[in-house]
Amino acid sequence: MTEGIKVAEKATLDALISRGLRLRCPRCGEGKLFIGLFKMHEHCPACNLKYERDPGYFLGSAYINYALTAMILTPSYFTLHFGFDLENRILFVPLAAFCILFPLFFFRYARGLWMAFDSFFDRHEEE
Ligand SMILES: [Zn+2]
Repeated sequence: MTEGIKVAEKATLDALISRGLRLRCPRCGEGKLFIGLFKMHEHCPACNLKYERDPGYFLGSAYINYALTAMILTPSYFTLHFGFDLENRILFVPLAAFCILFPLFFFRYARGLWMAFDSFFDRHEEE
């Protein structure tokens, strides 16, 4: 019994991650997160969930983006440098390009994943 506090049905972490990767609202799974390439809706068009809970809320998504970039870059560098004997001067440009382009590509998905994890670990459903 919740004593007057309405608790939304809890989505599983799998469902939340799926919604995040499909760039959908973590609460309803229907509303789109983004209007354009990098611009987000303020609220879910379907259920009116406020996406940016507080100023700086999406800082956590930068950690996800950074972590994934580093987790791909580091083994790639070691594999290419030590496994295939490629010199650093050859590897620098493509790996530097990866460090710039991948986070841009993954920006939206990092936000979707951040919202998914936040929704799972901190149930804050709005009325
Ligand atoms: Zn929604």
